[in-house]
Amino acid sequence: MPADLIVLRPQGLYCPVGDFYIDPWRPVDRCVITHAHSDHARRGSGHYLAHTDSAGTLRARLGEGIALQTLAYGEVVEHQGVRISLHPAGHVLGSAQVRLEHGGQVWVASGDYKLEADGTCPPFEPVRCHTFITESTFGLPIYRWPARAELEAEINAWWQVNAAAGRASVLYGYAFGKAQRVLRGVDAGIGPIVAHGAVEPLNAVYRAAGVPLPPTLRATDPSLTKTDLKRALVIAPPSAAGTPWLKRFGEHSDAFASGWMLVRGARRRRGVDRGFVMSDHADWPGLQRAIGATGAERIIVTHGSTEVMVRWLCEQGLDAQVFATEYGQDDATEDADAAAPDTATPAAAPEPTPDPAAPEAAP
Ligand SMILES: [Zn+2]
Ligand SMILES: [Zn+2]
Repeated sequence: MPADLIVLRPQGLYCPVGDFYIDPWRPVDRCVITHAHSDHARRGSGHYLAHTDSAGTLRARLGEGIALQTLAYGEVVEHQGVRISLHPAGHVLGSAQVRLEHGGQVWVASGDYKLEADGTCPPFEPVRCHTFITESTFGLPIYRWPARAELEAEINAWWQVNAAAGRASVLYGYAFGKAQRVLRGVDAGIGPIVAHGAVEPLNAVYRAAGVPLPPTLRATDPSLTKTDLKRALVIAPPSAAGTPWLKRFGEHSDAFASGWMLVRGARRRRGVDRGFVMSDHADWPGLQRAIGATGAERIIVTHGSTEVMVRWLCEQGLDAQVFATEYGQDDATEDADAAAPDTATPAAAPEPTPDPAAPEAAP
């Protein structure tokens, strides 16, 4: 039996042959980072390796001075005899699965992933391997996502109805990833689009990477009239709910974009008018399809509904186990927990408290 290419250590997922970690939750010497969400990319490590499109968000979040080496998808580096390459995970900009090859063994660590293409990053690509390390955030049979076109049509229809009634449409979603997916799918012909101060820096990172997003304005933009604000789609992080920042929009309809919106109780807890079922993670059929496509006989599950997924995999005759990781405290719980602060957002500057451009003072 060849030795395991990746094992669990108190610091994170560890490759003993290469002496490096993948998405460690404690500071280490060397690590590979799957993506820049804060539960997977943490401060304090000596050397980081990540996809080129993660560079902007990683430096903004972990510090401009980090030692960062970047790779394109499919590019291979060899480190102590281990061949390392990154492959699209379809989760957020720059998200990658990490493929390790050594001594005839291939292991792939997925990080977070999603199967359906969303136009904001290259879609998930299955990578053949002997052992696949997977997330299972939505690893329950109830989780099945609507198709992208259906979801985008729902959001546009909601905005259209509100705009016609002279009501702003405030849509809450995670600032890194979710907000840009919403933007990518909306019909900018309906009205102006306002982005919260925690969202706009991320939009800039996506645009710089070549992702076409419709024009967005800051709420304080002097060109926005009172009438504009009443027809606007407002993209804001969940933490903006109930803050004075919203006052300028007056009477408005609100909605939340998250995979958890599939569960009625989650929407009720949010207290919003609408819930749009939009997730950056694979749904139950997606997880099964992705795992099957790797051809792996051994599966290790890192976070989410790990026990349910492991039981299902064992029933399929696969060798499955759990690695107890510290992932899922950020993007997934940001979705799940209304009280989650927005401080984890890359490059997030808190939106300044009410300013002179409040509705009354607007031209
Ligand atoms: Zn993530
Ligand atoms: Zn995660």
